[in-house]
Amino acid sequence: IFIMKLLVILLFPGLITSCGGDSSYGLPPKLLLVSFDGFRADYLKNYDFPHLQNFIKEGVLVEHIKNVFITKTFPNHYSIVTGLYEESHGIVANSMYDEATKKHFSESNDKDPFWWNGAVPIWVTNELQENRSSAAAMWPGTDVSIHNTTPSYFMNYSHSVSFEERLSNITAWLSKSNPPVTFATLYWEEPDASGHKYGPEDKENMSRVLKEIDDLIGDLVQKLKMLGLWENLNVIITSDHGMTQCSEKRLIKLDPCIDHSNYSVIDLSPVAAILPKINVTEAYDRLKNCSPHMHVYLKEDIPNRFYYQHNNRIQPIILVAEEGWTIVLNASSSKLGDHGYDNSLPSMHPFLAAHGPAFHKGYKHSTISIVDIYPMMCHILGLKPHPNNGTFGHTKCLLVDQWCLKLPEAIGIVVGSLLALTILTGLIIIMQNRLSTTRPFSRLQLQDDDDDPLIG
Ligand SMILES: [Zn+2]
Repeated sequence: IFIMKLLVILLFPGLITSCGGDSSYGLPPKLLLVSFDGFRADYLKNYDFPHLQNFIKEGVLVEHIKNVFITKTFPNHYSIVTGLYEESHGIVANSMYDEATKKHFSESNDKDPFWWNGAVPIWVTNELQENRSSAAAMWPGTDVSIHNTTPSYFMNYSHSVSFEERLSNITAWLSKSNPPVTFATLYWEEPDASGHKYGPEDKENMSRVLKEIDDLIGDLVQKLKMLGLWENLNVIITSDHGMTQCSEKRLIKLDPCIDHSNYSVIDLSPVAAILPKINVTEAYDRLKNCSPHMHVYLKEDIPNRFYYQHNNRIQPIILVAEEGWTIVLNASSSKLGDHGYDNSLPSMHPFLAAHGPAFHKGYKHSTISIVDIYPMMCHILGLKPHPNNGTFGHTKCLLVDQWCLKLPEAIGIVVGSLLALTILTGLIIIMQNRLSTTRPFSRLQLQDDDDDPLIG
């Protein structure tokens, strides 16, 4: 029995360590959610990030986050904080139109709660808990009164506010204790802005921009340590989408196919939202053979895998450009990088890294969905999640208080079990040999019968 115990300890170290991770000591769990817009997953492999890699070394990394279609900023940021697909949370694009109310939504006209009230973001749920509050140094929707609630502390969105100012606000708020800020967001526009401007294949400019981002991550960690927040705070660093290279030579022009007076364009590229002024079928027929580099869908035919159909804000026809192609009316395009394309493209995926008492140290995971982040965050904060499209089980391996079977442990258990069985069989045979030395033939018989089924 002692040998068996020893075997178990030697073979299943993960089992022992994964049971002893609680370090919250009764303090309410705290979570800071950080987004660097447009941080494509493979930037991590192709560029140096000394500060971020240090963060990951002491925490966890999910190499690919499968985000939601359309792979744009507002929709994906809202999926992170609600766990819902776009058709369910209602932020279906950065530019929207609602036929029934004639309302328009854009990045600079986003304050009407009408657009956001289809879901309850995690900062609202957290805010409504007794003795807890939320804070936001920007994040789409945090300066809107969603279900009559904003974070207790927030900033009106302005791209001209420096990272330093956002960081000093968020750390000041996280230090407040009455009621304590337990959930906070921090948002930064890069590397998205530079990705659009230079294109992700511009190594020289992108390496400069990405080094700046790594330095900001260094500042973040240093500031949290300096203020004594680091040890008890859970920090998630993630993003909304990736970026792909575009070109002046890959333009899809709509004007030659359909007269502009025949439709309204609600959103243009790489996913165009078309509201026809003529018969929908007629408009569809004019667009369907417009370009071999663009899929044209009637709303009812949008592929199920996009989860992008059941919402009034999705227009009757959508055009989906092939990766790297840009939809224009007639003019040229100055964008060298873009996103919004099919969410199965790896170039559209962001990453996720996390650090803190809730997370393992030094663990890498290949992929989860962006909608899985929400139930994980609710679990960390002890909040009851609203109905959502995420799966908590997908993130169990990242968390210290969950038991999950990782591949090395699974192999260990299989090999260990076989080894234990073999030793047990051997011991039984030896014992029986010693006990029944007078009947050699029946003993041999027994040995044959026992061996085969147990080892095989
Ligand atoms: Zn962008």
